[in-house]
Amino acid sequence: MRIFDPHIHMTSRTTDDYERMRQAGVRIVLEPAFWLGQPRTSVGSFEDYFDSLLGWEPYRAAQYGVRHYCALALNPKEANDPRCRGVLDVLPRYLAKDGVVAVGEVGYDSMTEEEDEIFRLQLGMARTWGLPVLVHTPHRDKLTGTRRSLDVVRSEGLPPERALIDHLNELTVAMVKESGCWMGFSVYPDTKMDESRMVAILRTYGTERVLVNSAADWGRSDPLKTRKVAEAMLAGGFDEDDVDTVLWRNPLSFYGQSGRLRLDEPITADSFEGNSVQRGERVA
Ligand SMILES: [Zn+2]
Repeated sequence: MRIFDPHIHMTSRTTDDYERMRQAGVRIVLEPAFWLGQPRTSVGSFEDYFDSLLGWEPYRAAQYGVRHYCALALNPKEANDPRCRGVLDVLPRYLAKDGVVAVGEVGYDSMTEEEDEIFRLQLGMARTWGLPVLVHTPHRDKLTGTRRSLDVVRSEGLPPERALIDHLNELTVAMVKESGCWMGFSVYPDTKMDESRMVAILRTYGTERVLVNSAADWGRSDPLKTRKVAEAMLAGGFDEDDVDTVLWRNPLSFYGQSGRLRLDEPITADSFEGNSVQRGERVA
């Protein structure tokens, strides 16, 4: 089984997770830039984070045979902090880089005016750079937030096939399917979407344009949720081709729109700026 987790925050995870994920079939991960819990107070803090998502983290992933790509953006929550606004000035320089395969996570947190403005500006950047966009939908008032997100994607002229609307549920899936955007589902251990609800949604809405992710981060989450959904699909009557569509081919098609997924190149993990996480008897 081959798995592409299209939304996971590996910065918050251990190397044990990489090892277990690889054993479970995860070969590619997409790490979107997000809020770190502790609010950032300067643009430099974002630059170091973005550099880490382009340098250190892909290096760490490669040691376990996992390809790491990222999506970069000013996240919705910190869009409300004027100290972070300068991120928009440095972002174009980052969007030019090869390891960046999307703009994200963008969207709404509390649906403020600032969030709206910064969401729109970043959709404009995605258009300029020809990149797909990962859109986070708010956990509070999700229905309104999802509807507004679809309106913004439409009014900013982003083709629907370039937008992945994430963290969907039974209440929001239909409107996103109808819009032509891609549908993302984050499967969590004990809240929101779980494996059996996910299988039921796939039965109702089909596998086309559907992506499943673990959204694992520093909160209660499980980086093996993609594999668990695959198992639940098989137990629920889907075949291996359906599993491959949802867990592998769909994320490849979506992020492949960037033209930057280089699956023919070998995964290299020699050292990172002279630094190595390899210790003891492990030989490169
Ligand atoms: Zn996230």
